[in-house]
Amino acid sequence: MRRILNITAVVAFTCSACFAQNDKRTPESTEVWEPQPKIVTPGATPADPPSDAIVLFDGRDLSRWESVNGGPAKWTVKDGAITVAPGTGDIRTKESFGDIQLHIEWRAPAVTDPSVVSQGRGNSGVFLQERYEVQVLDNYQNKTYINGQAGSVYKQHIPLANACKKPGEWQTYDIIYTAPRFGADGRVVVPAYVTVIHNGVLLLNHVALLGATEYIGFPLYKEHGDAPLRLQDHGNLVSYRNIWVRKL
Ligand code: MG
Repeated sequence: MRRILNITAVVAFTCSACFAQNDKRTPESTEVWEPQPKIVTPGATPADPPSDAIVLFDGRDLSRWESVNGGPAKWTVKDGAITVAPGTGDIRTKESFGDIQLHIEWRAPAVTDPSVVSQGRGNSGVFLQERYEVQVLDNYQNKTYINGQAGSVYKQHIPLANACKKPGEWQTYDIIYTAPRFGADGRVVVPAYVTVIHNGVLLLNHVALLGATEYIGFPLYKEHGDAPLRLQDHGNLVSYRNIWVRKL
């Protein structure tokens, strides 16, 4: 009985101490003032690069890009856009990246052959860290397997919506990407995450990647560090413009 009383006394004391502490709380006691976030000057519109962005293509040249086959990028630069030169191979940035915010605009060629459907229409891709493909595809009135449509992480994540504009019109991707983290043994500890917004419409909301994109078979992680951004030559005349990233 005495012991119970003692416990009661301890609990009562603890609670009263706790309330006393609560009494000392002020609005200011839960405010954080330092360090202040860095100042970033936004672009004139959300499509324009903010002050801390690295502009990877501003409409002029491919000086920040190279061919994955070695040597300079061989895609066509014309009228402020770059267009896949089929058969020349993918292109990638010379610089490597980890976690990024990416803005990229793309345009599928206007359809001239109605017999070309599914994955054959305006196919390209944005490969994050060279490995993880966010699909670029003309899915305007064009069905394909849904885990391979525009804005999917190819064969991993199905988009929440189809926000495609008509082929021939410019479209935007805004992508937030967190690189995977690997342990000392080379195994993935934290997967990569991606958020994809297509023409202002959320398609993928912070989804965890299962590994590198595969055409055949299942995705697997292999340890890597920072890596380039890569654009796919899938043989279609897809164009890109206004490409910028912010390192996070
Ligand atoms: Mg593709």
